[in-house]
Amino acid sequence: MSLLELRGVSRSYGEGSASVNALQEVSLSVDEGAMVAVMGPSGSGKSTLLSIAGTLEEPTSGEVRVGGQPVSAMSRGAKARLRRRTIGYVFQDFNLLPGLTAAENVALPLELDGTSGRKARLAALRTLERFGLGERASHYPDTMSGGERQRVAIARAMVGERKLVLADEPSGALDSVNGEAVMRLLHDACKKAGMGAVVVTHDAQLASWADRVVFLRDGHVTDQTAPPKDPQSLLTPEAET
Ligand code: ADP
Ligand code: MG
Repeated sequence: MSLLELRGVSRSYGEGSASVNALQEVSLSVDEGAMVAVMGPSGSGKSTLLSIAGTLEEPTSGEVRVGGQPVSAMSRGAKARLRRRTIGYVFQDFNLLPGLTAAENVALPLELDGTSGRKARLAALRTLERFGLGERASHYPDTMSGGERQRVAIARAMVGERKLVLADEPSGALDSVNGEAVMRLLHDACKKAGMGAVVVTHDAQLASWADRVVFLRDGHVTDQTAPPKDPQSLLTPEAET
């Protein structure tokens, strides 16, 4: 089943001569178990694409479906529930709350959705353990490395069986080893838990973890590969034979 579907989605900002077409007629489908990477230069619309997919912004035209349901037909409350229960977000700068431990950060979305503190904490611990962070559960973010913090942030995005994870340059602030670890984690979650993920990255090596790479330029999808043969093929044009 398609977890996320964008059909002819456009988004513009501003009016008249000052208007910017951040996305133009973008169509994209993410099935259960699929990891899709999005690459493109700065300003090409990558973050706008994720915001619209995550129902944080509305398209100017076109249709977005999450779990088969058209987002435009949902009430504000239904969209908020979707964001709490179905969609997880991961950001470049982790966005963990500094006053909460790793486990409390991961438990927070469940508690905000009405799960009891005890249950939320158990689910958070299980998720952290799955990510090799069980021993860090009671640590505060500023005592953890960047790689650990990003893994905690991914745990927070996935806790409670969420189905769709949207990650905006999750490895952007990490070294290559930790960047790889983050991509492997997202990849495994897609394959084992049937999650779908859209992951923005600048790095062709990291993009090669994905099943498919979508290239954006000036708001247009210029190319899609499925799947990349090897990282080098994303960097250099096809050699003449
Ligand atoms: P990327 O994430 O690929 O760097 P963005 O999606 O952030 O690109 O931005 C795409 C284009 O839309 C850019 O030209 C950017 O300046 C513009 N843009 C994004 N958000 C806004 C906004 N809230 N208001 C006006 N312009 C915006
Ligand atoms: Mg961006």
